[in-house]
Amino acid sequence: MVPTHQSQVISLNLFEKIIVRKVQAIVEHAEQQCKKNGVRLTEKRKHILAALLHSGKALSAYELVGYCKEQLGETIPAMSVYRILGFLQSQQLVHKLDLVNKYIACAHITCHHKHAVSQFLICKQCQRVKEINLRDSVIHSLLQEVYDTDFELDSPQLEINGLCGSCGKMK
Ligand SMILES: [Zn+2]
Ligand SMILES: [Zn+2]
Ligand SMILES: [Zn+2]
Repeated sequence: MVPTHQSQVISLNLFEKIIVRKVQAIVEHAEQQCKKNGVRLTEKRKHILAALLHSGKALSAYELVGYCKEQLGETIPAMSVYRILGFLQSQQLVHKLDLVNKYIACAHITCHHKHAVSQFLICKQCQRVKEINLRDSVIHSLLQEVYDTDFELDSPQLEINGLCGSCGKMK
């Protein structure tokens, strides 16, 4: 059934095109944001950010090296990837998931509100990550609780493992 197969290919390409355009729009927004902050989103920085946005998953620095090579045909050494990720983190365009040692594009790049402390819901099946923001009062009581136990907190960022909606349904 050649026609059916062809139409599937076409719709997949269309889907891919929509994602690419979405990623481009977010990267352009990030570029403007950086300009406002007096820093530059160079081509390589753009590529790493686009790779994270495009994959839609949390990736390690080494996975990003592979992704750039396969998808962009560009070789970026791991050391540079780490440096670029550090820059993107400083601009709050990317977050680091400390427990899994991976990086994810911020879900609020095109938002205008102030960025709050994030919590991340990590799907153990498909590795997709959802960034959420708990209410300030919830964060406040968490901090108070931790303070009371005489524990020095690095960051109130939470990383929560589980199954996302679509993986949960497949069970
Ligand atoms: Zn964020
Ligand atoms: Zn937002
Ligand atoms: Zn999932």
